[in-house]
Parts: sequence; structure tokens; C-alpha cells
Amino acid sequence: MHDLIELINSALPQYQCGRCDTPGCRPYAKEIAEGSPYNRCVPGGKETLDKLQAITKRPPLTLDDDYGPALSPQIAYIVEDECIGCKKCIDACPVDAIVGSANLMHGVISELCTGCELCIEPCPVDCIELVEIETTKSKIIRDRSEKFFDLKNILNTGLSKNSKLNKNIKLNIELGMNMNSKISNRKIDQKNALKKLQIDILESQKNEKLLDSTEIEDLINRLN
Ligand code: SF4
Ligand code: SF4
Ligand code: SF4
Repeated sequence: MHDLIELINSALPQYQCGRCDTPGCRPYAKEIAEGSPYNRCVPGGKETLDKLQAITKRPPLTLDDDYGPALSPQIAYIVEDECIGCKKCIDACPVDAIVGSANLMHGVISELCTGCELCIEPCPVDCIELVEIETTKSKIIRDRSEKFFDLKNILNTGLSKNSKLNKNIKLNIELGMNMNSKISNRKIDQKNALKKLQIDILESQKNEKLLDSTEIEDLINRLN
């Protein structure tokens, strides 16, 4: 069963958008493996549908448009001057591609944003825009973001019962606040600062042994 889930997951587009009515691509892969219809990933289009039919060896289906609409290759961009720092977008982002702290400007890590659009609707001042990118670039970002989606799920699962993990979350928040004050003072390059923040967060996970250290190194190398 595990191999089948991995195979199905590898055919999914990794937007982590939840349009298939599950909280991400891997959860949907699990549902398909357990018998759910394989035609609910509208963002994946016909290409994904055909791959899923070949993997599952089930009768052909057409895409179920009730689970749409489709998504374009894109990333989110926050208009800094309009952002009020309410943090609602952070809670909505499935891959932790947004950093920021309460009442401070927020930013999107473009190397991690899948363009899933989940942050758009919660923003009370409508200051998140979508910027089109090349399909190839979008695919690279989505493949990479899958690892962060998994990492976030591990963090969330352990949150209530792991005090060390809580310490890490606190550390992440402190790092975020520190980074934001630097960013708002415009003393450092935002892109590099955000990348460093993610690397610091990943480094802090090494001691907790929640993820394999080679996996963490791989994620760090991808960011560099
Ligand atoms: S891309 Fe969106 S709709 Fe498709 S499987 Fe992933 S989470 Fe579901
Ligand atoms: S920043 Fe917005 S569009 Fe990008 S991955 Fe996060 S929620 Fe989706
Ligand atoms: S939801 Fe909008 S206003 Fe609130 S922090 Fe995010 S970008 Fe800024």
C-alpha cells in the first residue's frame, strides 16, 4: 500500500491546494489508494488524470469539475505597503512559504510558493497578488515544496506532545520577528534573509530527529 501511495503521489502536481477536498497531494494519494475516485485533481489536468488511470489500472474517467477550478503556473506576491501584518496568510499557507510576525510586514519565499491561492481569500486588505511564472519553474518549486509540506505535517502532528518541538516553534517565531525587524529597516537583502530564515529553521530540526538528517540536508541544499 505504501508503495502505491508514493507512486500516486509522484504523479500529482504538488500544489497542496486542497481542491480535491483533502489537505494536500499526499493525503489525496492515500485516499485514491484506498479506493476514492482518481479524477478530483483539476489543477493536474488531463496529464495527471491519465497517469493516475495508468497507475491505478481502473476504468477511464473524466476530470470532475466540481473540484476545480484549475491553477496557473504562478507565485504569490505581497504588496508590502498595504500589508497590515495580521498573519492570516501564514495560517493559510500549506507549505510555510510566508514569513512574518504580528503587526509586521509579511513576505513570500518565492522558491517555496506553489501558487495554490490559499492565502488570497483570507487576506483582509487584499494585498496578495499572483504573478505568472514559467511552467518549468513552477514544477521545480512544487516538487521542492512537497518536502516542506511533509515537514509541516510532522511539526503539526507532534505539536501537542513534544515540548522540544514547542521550543523550536518558539525559536521560529523569534527568528521571524528578528528577520522582520531587519527587513522592515531595509538593512539587508530580503530574498537572502528569507532564505537564511528557512535554513535556520531546518537546522534547528536536526537535533529533534523528527526528519532524517540527510533529508534535512537535501532541503537545505535545495534552498542554497
Ligand atoms: S494539486 Fe491540489 S487538487 Fe491536486 S492532488 Fe494536490 S492538493 Fe489535491
Ligand atoms: S504563499 Fe499563498 S499561493 Fe503561495 S503557497 Fe502559500 S498559500 Fe499558496
Ligand atoms: S493576510 Fe494580508 S494583511 Fe494579513 S499579513 Fe498576510 S498579506 Fe499581510
